[in-house]
Amino acid sequence: MSDKAYLRIEKVSKTYTVKKHHVTALQELDLSVAKDEFVSVVGASGCGKSTLLRIICGLDSEHSGNVYVNGRKVTAPGLHCGIVFQEHRLLPWLTVAENIEFALNNHTKAQKKELIEKYLALVELSGTEKYYPNQLSGGMAQRVSIARALVNQPEILLLDEPLGALDALTRLNMQKEILHIWKKEKTTMIMVTHDIEEAIYLGTRVIVMSPRPGKIKKEFIIPDNVNKCQTDEQFIRLRREIYHEISA
Ligand code: ADP
Ligand code: MG
Repeated sequence: MSDKAYLRIEKVSKTYTVKKHHVTALQELDLSVAKDEFVSVVGASGCGKSTLLRIICGLDSEHSGNVYVNGRKVTAPGLHCGIVFQEHRLLPWLTVAENIEFALNNHTKAQKKELIEKYLALVELSGTEKYYPNQLSGGMAQRVSIARALVNQPEILLLDEPLGALDALTRLNMQKEILHIWKKEKTTMIMVTHDIEEAIYLGTRVIVMSPRPGKIKKEFIIPDNVNKCQTDEQFIRLRREIYHEISA
């Protein structure tokens, strides 16, 4: 595996305070991720997964500890990260092309058109430029969200349960597409999911987080040669071990 220090999270702690009540969402969390990794993050609801992604992309700067991407300290949201959430968050009054264009700045009109076409093709939605979000299925809208997150060619793509709201069949297709995009674009990916099979299927590493305070409990390296078929013995063993860690 290549340089482990592409993304470095060093002793990151985060406490939320609501009406004098403190919730420590993350405590001294350390994590290093290599450029070529796909890290799946699993763990019980409330264990700090979304908080971790928000801190990585700079959306939450009120924390202790540091995050470095490619050697640079993250202090604010920037082009280093793209993020996709469970709900698509497209602006309903803009077309597909305009939603993607909304993420772009400092490009000529021709460059914008070219980038929009390129990323719509990547998510297999060429020709939908003029559609409005309410004309898209859930899976299509999520693919537009991925295109929008990738159009600035971020160093890292963060995915916060991006497939959680999709039906089972669409979800399987989207998993294949995300894997295809990861291989083609070579963007480092970190994905939160509740689905252990999805975590193994997509990840080169699966991280299990434990709650209160949120930290990394255990990680599983998914060997390159693991047969990512749900009936494969090694796959079943990994699934059992990860399930055991989450529920223990
Ligand atoms: P997860 O994504 O793993 O479900 P979160 O990162 O959303 O977990 O939340 C971790 C903990 O921090 C939870 O206990 C949650 O209630 C708390 N929390 C998250 N966001 C806020 C917030 N904006 N204000 C107060 N508490 C929050
Ligand atoms: Mg969450």
